[in-house]
Amino acid sequence: LGMPDVPAKLADRRVSRKIQVGTVAVGGDAPVSVQSMTTTRTSDIGSTLQQIAELTASGCQIVRVACPTQDDADALATIARKSQIPVIADIHFQPKYVFQAIDAGCAAVRVNPGNIKQFDDKVKEIAHAASASGTPIRIGVNAGSLDKRLLERYGKATPEALVESALWECSLFEEHGFRDIKISVKHNDPVVMVNAYRLLAQRCDYPLHLGVTEAGPAFQGTIKSAVAFGALLSEGIGDTIRVSLSAPPAEEVKVGIQILESLGLRQRGLEIVSCPSCGRAQVDVYKLADEVTAGLEGMDVPLRVAVMGCVVNGPGEAREADLGVASGNGKGQIFVKGEVIKTVPEAKIVETLIDEAMKIAEQMERDGVTS
Ligand code: SF4
Repeated sequence: LGMPDVPAKLADRRVSRKIQVGTVAVGGDAPVSVQSMTTTRTSDIGSTLQQIAELTASGCQIVRVACPTQDDADALATIARKSQIPVIADIHFQPKYVFQAIDAGCAAVRVNPGNIKQFDDKVKEIAHAASASGTPIRIGVNAGSLDKRLLERYGKATPEALVESALWECSLFEEHGFRDIKISVKHNDPVVMVNAYRLLAQRCDYPLHLGVTEAGPAFQGTIKSAVAFGALLSEGIGDTIRVSLSAPPAEEVKVGIQILESLGLRQRGLEIVSCPSCGRAQVDVYKLADEVTAGLEGMDVPLRVAVMGCVVNGPGEAREADLGVASGNGKGQIFVKGEVIKTVPEAKIVETLIDEAMKIAEQMERDGVTS
């Protein structure tokens, strides 16, 4: 068995400074990381930790928790200590929660200093506390909460307005020598968002957190995020991503990981190459692909499995994959590493593929190949 393919590269990565969010490096040459945000009340420590555990299991690398009340801020220390992945406290308006999050050992804090500028010396104190503890800060500008001055000047949340706002927020920290920052400039319109990040990428060297905000329910949000992140990441822009969906956060992580795998920015895990089916199909390809996907779920190896409906493209794709089936005449030709190893009746295709996949996975694990 050979090593998995190393995917072709799209573009050189934009050069950004590297920051350290707990155990996860963001920016520089660090791999693009996947984040999500809990939907529980942060003050409900048990439920929040439960959701973080689920997110961790789905591959989430950094998690953000909202911190709108004192009870939430009080929960941060336990959550930060017990979470297996770095926790970012998301804070608006309340400088005292920022200090509490830093003391609690949160891996980073999301706060916009513009929000707390009315307590002018607080920005300086935050910069000093964050610097002393090595806690990075994410400045997150969202179209929906754009500064009034900029809204008046630009008329709406244009890419220029979002970028100007973000850089102004950064300058409030830079005045105090603090540059341990990453930035997001989110918009619900992928076109505005892509242009905002492109502009921001030219204007600073901070690592960038990509997000399409309020992207919508799972289907629409997945597409918007995939299109926008795909455009930016293919230009080398983006250091960490969060897919925002009106869906359980583990779904966001699944989508995020799939986007990175599709772009070759991450070792592909299990990949099902299945044909769309057409009038030539001699088996129910959808059912077959669903059953094979379900049977192989959770397999932690970079395995490409081809499920093809007929002999037109079937043998070609099946031969290219680690494992595959080309169906025809109520039978399936089973390919392993390009060779037909057997032909089985249609009813046996799924179980044969799963059996063979297990054998290949065991061999890969023995060889130390995991995704
Ligand atoms: Fe149609 Fe066969 Fe191609 Fe599937 S492999 S789309 S059934 S021609």
